[in-house]
Amino acid sequence: MQILAVNAGSSSLKFQMYEMPAEKVIISGVFERIGIGSSFYTIKLNGNKVKKEKEFGNHDEAVAVLIQELFDNNVVKSLDEIVGIGHRVVHGASKYADSVVITDEVLSDIEDFISLAPLHNPANIMGIKAFKKLVPDAIQVAVFDTAFHQTMSEESYLYPVPYSWYEQYGVRKYGFHGTSHKYLTIRMSQILNKKEFKLITCHLGNGGSISAVKDGQCIDTSMGFTPNAGIMMGTRSGDIDATIIPYVMEKTNKSLDDIINDLNKNSGYLGISSISSDSRDIENGIADGNEKCILAQKMYIKKIVEYIAKYYVLLGGADAICFSAGIGENSFKTRKDIIDSLACLGIKLDEEANQVRGEEKLITTLDSVIPCYIVPTDEELMIARDTLKFVK
Ligand code: AMP
Repeated sequence: MQILAVNAGSSSLKFQMYEMPAEKVIISGVFERIGIGSSFYTIKLNGNKVKKEKEFGNHDEAVAVLIQELFDNNVVKSLDEIVGIGHRVVHGASKYADSVVITDEVLSDIEDFISLAPLHNPANIMGIKAFKKLVPDAIQVAVFDTAFHQTMSEESYLYPVPYSWYEQYGVRKYGFHGTSHKYLTIRMSQILNKKEFKLITCHLGNGGSISAVKDGQCIDTSMGFTPNAGIMMGTRSGDIDATIIPYVMEKTNKSLDDIINDLNKNSGYLGISSISSDSRDIENGIADGNEKCILAQKMYIKKIVEYIAKYYVLLGGADAICFSAGIGENSFKTRKDIIDSLACLGIKLDEEANQVRGEEKLITTLDSVIPCYIVPTDEELMIARDTLKFVK
């Protein structure tokens, strides 16, 4: 049976179609610049990647083109063959601790949570509605980024602010990238061949988050009420003193929206280096002796190491640490910088093993007190697996 895993952004839509339960990717693609002009899409099939330019004014038009591609490439002969469609949904608030079939009530909840994720949930809803319209008979499933973190206890997810903010407005830590942290947890359980273990998962991409996981359950995570919290990221600040916001507003006459935009889009690697949000550019800058790039990397590593140290103590030790996402899977330098900073915990990098990209691998020496692994994440597969549970 065929299952689609969908990740709809405000102007993009990524998909992977799986033959399940074999978990084999049949076709995948990305639609970009939806509704903002010069739109195009790329389709990957049998190892070939094809890029096509076509205007689509909204997600419905993009999904219609996607379906036509499935027919044109003989991936399906009838839409009935697509039995399930799993959607990445960023915010499920406190209500959803697992994936669910998208009923009218669930869709209305996802709409209610827009105030918690104004940049993401509206886009996810557009994707859901487009597929509901064009593939009405498939079971649609919501897979929430926040769900995996719902196991955190009150003392982990509450902020030390007036309790009424939580009760009345839902102000609490929700955590994000949950589907990735869950995948890493499942994979590490298989690698370690243990069900009871203490794990620190590091999802280091353009956005980044770190989780503390005990016996398969998340007990703390670095992102918070929004995905702007936690470690420093490509363009996001991560944790800051909230009082900086009114101070800079007053000094610059900028609006609150402008400052929030600065914290989300002009901070992190980009803000410090003023060159780029991409760690490859930062690494090139470091090689050229650029002081700001050197500083940006030092700050990036410091923030990550602080979270790992915090979670090491919270967990009462760690059986493993794993690195994932664009930077975690690909940057030898960032992994080395982090692991070298953890030497006091008896962690020792295997320099040669670390020279790989995008490969599942142990990268510490056999006498390292805590083994560290690269584990390429696979959020789409998690979405397809969760969807499969409801179509069987
Ligand atoms: P993601 O958000 O998971 O797609 O990760 C994107 C980030 O991964 C980019 O911004 C880059 O900083 C980083 N990245 C990808 N490839 C490499 C690489 N070969 N070396 C260092 N960083 C990389």
